[in-house]
Amino acid sequence: MRRHEGKTALVTGGSRGIGRAVAERLAAEGAQVALFHAQAGSADAALGAIRKAGGACEAFQVDVADAAQVESRVGEAVKRLGGVDLLVNNAGLTRDGLLLRMSEEDWNAVLSTNLNGCFHCVKSVSRGMLKKRYGRIVNIASVIGLHGNAGQANYAASKAGIIGFTKSVARELASRGITVNAVAPGYIATDMTRSMSPEAQEKLQAMIPAERLGTPDDVAGLVSFLLSDEASYITGQVVQVDGGLFI
Ligand code: NDP
Repeated sequence: MRRHEGKTALVTGGSRGIGRAVAERLAAEGAQVALFHAQAGSADAALGAIRKAGGACEAFQVDVADAAQVESRVGEAVKRLGGVDLLVNNAGLTRDGLLLRMSEEDWNAVLSTNLNGCFHCVKSVSRGMLKKRYGRIVNIASVIGLHGNAGQANYAASKAGIIGFTKSVARELASRGITVNAVAPGYIATDMTRSMSPEAQEKLQAMIPAERLGTPDDVAGLVSFLLSDEASYITGQVVQVDGGLFI
């Protein structure tokens, strides 16, 4: 299905995991993709795979926590690929720890990347969308932002923040043809969850009605739908992709 033909997509954290699956899917469905990543060279494999499959893609190294860097990279992406129609805010990290042991640094790192990063990208990209009176924005939250998790107060706060931000911006932009939705994944097999012990993974799996962890593609399918014209009357929603973990 080439449902994103003629569109330009920007995917943050597109070098690995969920973001890479989203970037590959959007490119396969016809979009030109600008991929944001943090570390030098981290996007080479994703970029190579997309181009090998015949897709159009450019990568930009940026720290989404830095507003000025985001503004400048969005400008470069627009110059190289044209105005952004579809934005996926997916860049994120964890710095887990129980509250009393959580450092100011770990709190700030998670909030700056996950929540401030989302704000910076939406602010920079929505300017062009407002001019076009068209846009689709999907912010990657988490079931942890809805339900909380011991040891993840910083992460849960950042993801709950993304949900409140999504609903507010959805209200601001709806009359201009721009939809803003959040996707809340459950446990997805990526680098982020691979650090869990095998015992913890087994325990978790037993709690999931689907009896398996999700795959990045499980999330990418929903993101692509929410970015499509078929989803033009859906905005301000939070959709869980969690194999039934939180029914
Ligand atoms: P990964 O750890 O596999 O990948 C993280 C991505 O974010 C990488 O592309 C990384 O770039 C990028 N990134 C990290 N920090 C920054 C930064 N400061 N600036 C720009 N890019 C940055 O994560 P996942 O694929 O597992 O997760 C993706 C999103 O989904 C996150 O927001 C996460 O919170 C959310 N999520 C994940 C779940 C899971 O179970 N995996 C569950 C629920 C939500 P680089 O490669 O250069 O380091």
